[in-house]
Amino acid sequence: MKVDVERFLWELELLVNIDSGQCNPDGITAVGDFFADRFADLGWIVEKYDLRPHTGNCTVVKNREADHYDVMLIGHVDTVFAAGETQKRPFRRDEKNCYGVGVIDMKQGCLSMLHILEALPVDVNEKLNIVAIFNPDEEIGSPYSADIQFRYADICDKVFVFEAGSEDGAITIQRKGQTSGNIAIYGCAGHAGYMFEGKSLSAVKELVYWINKLDEFHSQELGTSVNIGVIQAGEKRNVVPEVARFEFDIRYEKRDVGEQVRDCIDELIRHAEAGGYRVEVIKLGGTPALEPTEKTWAYMERVKQVAERIGHPFILKKRGGLSDANRISLHGPICVDSLGPTGDFDHSDREYLAISTIQPHTNFAYELICDLARDK
Ligand SMILES: [Zn+2]
Repeated sequence: MKVDVERFLWELELLVNIDSGQCNPDGITAVGDFFADRFADLGWIVEKYDLRPHTGNCTVVKNREADHYDVMLIGHVDTVFAAGETQKRPFRRDEKNCYGVGVIDMKQGCLSMLHILEALPVDVNEKLNIVAIFNPDEEIGSPYSADIQFRYADICDKVFVFEAGSEDGAITIQRKGQTSGNIAIYGCAGHAGYMFEGKSLSAVKELVYWINKLDEFHSQELGTSVNIGVIQAGEKRNVVPEVARFEFDIRYEKRDVGEQVRDCIDELIRHAEAGGYRVEVIKLGGTPALEPTEKTWAYMERVKQVAERIGHPFILKKRGGLSDANRISLHGPICVDSLGPTGDFDHSDREYLAISTIQPHTNFAYELICDLARDK
């Protein structure tokens, strides 16, 4: 397909200049409505799920009502930025790049979805059942829209995620999972000079035990990293600390590491309680790893053929960041991520979109969708 890049950039300017962080449900809905209107014009079925006050609308569009979908396209319309950010750095462009809020994460990807589905040949549109989701709350882990996504993930074969990848055109079929926690350990304060005689119980000593245990997961070889990001404890050198609080963030390639970390936490709680401590789990949560399955690897052969046919690079990369693909993959579909046009520095005010990636990346995803119709 030939992307009308000027139209693309004009629409991108419109979308980028709408504040759509979580503090702005109306902005999220406005971006969703932009797409809803376009798809309504195309004659697609449009569903708007009002998730206020938590977040804005989740917008779902589909070319027909079906029990089963061949492919889901997904992108998120929210950004990580606070209200008013678009005033500070409105959309602008130079010869190579464009800049602005969410220009790379990921209003460009959402727009790419629209341009692809608008351009689909009639026979492809007839053969394939297609659903596209404009997620309103990905940047906070999709707590409110996940059920809507899963409803479709359960009944579709493939999911194409339009997050940005890298400028070399690499796609993603593997993303690390994450388990994070915020935990407080309560001991008993006392005099540092009478630790054996008194009834003091150092929360820091127990915390050190926990941290060492958790750090045993840290392994470059297995692709598991353990970060203890926050530690808060103690007030005075000569006082046995009563409370120790810490936050951790563990990332891993293998899904079962998440369960092992959970088991380890349970064991640590038992250890603490046996020692007379009390433990408060303030927060403990996680996102599963996106792990390629046999089905994924088999499909990659096909993706490679499509890439070769159109002269697009076929590069697979592992990524550490999370996306909708992590959660959706648990529901069974083959997930291919990083299909959107790309640039760099997402989540920062240096973010940019490389204009030269709009055409090739959009066309590659378009070709992948057309290819799905070939077997039908
Ligand atoms: Zn994103």
